Amino acid sequence: MLTTPHVLVGAAIGSQLPHAWQIVPLAAASHFVLDSIPHIQGYIEVEDLEKKEALFLLADAALAFGALFLLAKGLPNWEPIVLGGFSAVIPDFHHIYRVLFGPEKLSRYTKLHKKFHWKKNMPILPGMATQILTIILAIFVIIKFI
Ligand SMILES: [Zn+2]
Repeated sequence: MLTTPHVLVGAAIGSQLPHAWQIVPLAAASHFVLDSIPHIQGYIEVEDLEKKEALFLLADAALAFGALFLLAKGLPNWEPIVLGGFSAVIPDFHHIYRVLFGPEKLSRYTKLHKKFHWKKNMPILPGMATQILTIILAIFVIIKFI
């Protein structure tokens, strides 16, 4: 999935739990669950990352963390929310490591991570709908709407 649903689901987990030892592993585990849900985007290969894809990933990350800080701002439990948001993207850090140190690095982890990923192609509408619904649900949980 995109970074935004990952971060916001992690933030939603953080909004419901009081302790870091609960938030960090659960938010990180949520990453793999979300990756397995049918969605568009697939799996971007670090080896042949194009400029257009890199810009899209940066915009997604900016949206994700901008939304995280906007949602958490002013809430009494902002710290667990922010911790959950960051913890949810820990499983994707191998991408950055491979960009910095070489695409052949962490290949066993990359293979394992890929196993959780939804691999089939999806039309754009349902492929984005699952991600947008995930984002909306996560926001509702954070702001205690549901
Ligand atoms: Zn991932």
